[in-house]
Amino acid sequence: MAQEHYQNRILQAIGANFSEQKEFCQAVSEVFSSLDLLLEKESKYERYSILERITVPERQILFRVTWIDDEGKIRTNMGYRVQFSSSIGPYKGGLRFHPSVNLSIIKFLGFEQIFKNSLTGLSIGGAKGGSNFDPKGKSEGEIMRFCQAFMSELFKHVGATKDVPAGDIGVGGREIGYMFGKYKQLTNQYEGVLTGKGLDWGGSLARTEATGYGSVYFAENILDKYSLGFEGKVCSVSGAGNVAIYTIEKLYQIGALPVTCSDSGGMVCDKEGIDLQALKEIKEVKKISLSEYVKYRPNATYTPVKDYPRGRNLVWNIPCFAAFPSATQNELNLEDIKVLHKNGCKLVTEGANMPSTLDAISYMLENNIFYAPAKAANAGGVATSQLEMSQNASMTSWSFDEVDKKLKGIMKHIFDLSYETSKEFKDEGNLMLGANIAGFRKVADAMIEQGAV
Ligand code: NDP
Repeated sequence: MAQEHYQNRILQAIGANFSEQKEFCQAVSEVFSSLDLLLEKESKYERYSILERITVPERQILFRVTWIDDEGKIRTNMGYRVQFSSSIGPYKGGLRFHPSVNLSIIKFLGFEQIFKNSLTGLSIGGAKGGSNFDPKGKSEGEIMRFCQAFMSELFKHVGATKDVPAGDIGVGGREIGYMFGKYKQLTNQYEGVLTGKGLDWGGSLARTEATGYGSVYFAENILDKYSLGFEGKVCSVSGAGNVAIYTIEKLYQIGALPVTCSDSGGMVCDKEGIDLQALKEIKEVKKISLSEYVKYRPNATYTPVKDYPRGRNLVWNIPCFAAFPSATQNELNLEDIKVLHKNGCKLVTEGANMPSTLDAISYMLENNIFYAPAKAANAGGVATSQLEMSQNASMTSWSFDEVDKKLKGIMKHIFDLSYETSKEFKDEGNLMLGANIAGFRKVADAMIEQGAV
């Protein structure tokens, strides 16, 4: 089939040109794997060279970030902002500060963001950025000086109607505050250039909770469809950051029992249910290792990463009804999903971006495990960021309940759109296929209508 050749040809060219960008190639493969029938039906996408264009960022900005540590030594990090697509709105996507950050990781995140933002039904384009700066072990002053140095270059490329960054791994309310302050000083503009702001200076209620709450709302939509529910069900969550904490909070609110969480040092299993207050104190207030958890809950167990068997994430050894990978990319592999399946897991909802490897996804689809892909399930965060932009633009602020209700509506819209699209393409319930096609089609059609740019 000519169309099949088209996407294979583009995929091969990307593989050859960017062989060192493993995560980016993985993200492109995942999206392309869903497009067969669409490309077969609609030859216009090949005619207008959509795959060639959509896989190349409109702009990628790489810059030096120079800052001064507490000893007075000049330190240098890399800064990135990849503005992938502005076809349906201004660029939007988070900033990640983590030592593993490189161009491949920022490109995979930016590429995913295009389709995620499209699925929300809101007018937002896709971008991502960050730095290989490691916030761990840095003083408050060092964090502030780094954020200011980062914004000293980034401010030239962002703006309320141009590109609106937000948080991601290593970037929360504190970092957004320092970057916003610097942007304001440099531009003399008080505008919604960043989302995830403090509530007294332009932030939105429920933004902090939105990604975690949204992924649970998405999972509820799946279970509703099959007349199932979460009441009394044991759930496993990985991560101990923003997404994981508010996934756990919402799981409790709907009567489920979350029993695990993890950080980069190890994992906790608490069979009686994770103590949410203890978790928040450890990770949000004190910002320390999860190993401290057993001091709050002596019956819980903590296993350090060094004791994990090679190539495994021990969080997924805990028997559960539903798994919520909410830490980072490729944290759930084929071996992990086989163990989850053997132990009775029925649903995997991706809170993190690209947490499942491609072979783990195939296994889920082949074995009738409900699979909620990241670009649909974790879109609640960016959707609520857009609600923050709306409030900033109209100089209003909505109550927590108003924002939460809109978030719930958006997650239902994303589920319905993904589900109906999977039906249209004769694979009912394959939400990866539905989300990829629906997200892609809207952006691709906008690209055609806007001409060769
Ligand atoms: P945070 O920085 O708040 O938390 C990340 C958590 O994951 C921390 O507990 C961290 O451990 C752990 N972690 C990070 N890297 C690794 C690693 N390599 N191995 C094991 N554990 C790791 O980030 P978020 O919660 O915001 O983000 C988590 C995921 O969700 C990411 O994939 C992000 O892209 C995605 N996401 C986030 C959104 C948001 O609104 N925040 C929106 C949509 C997606 P430690 O505490 O030790 O650092």
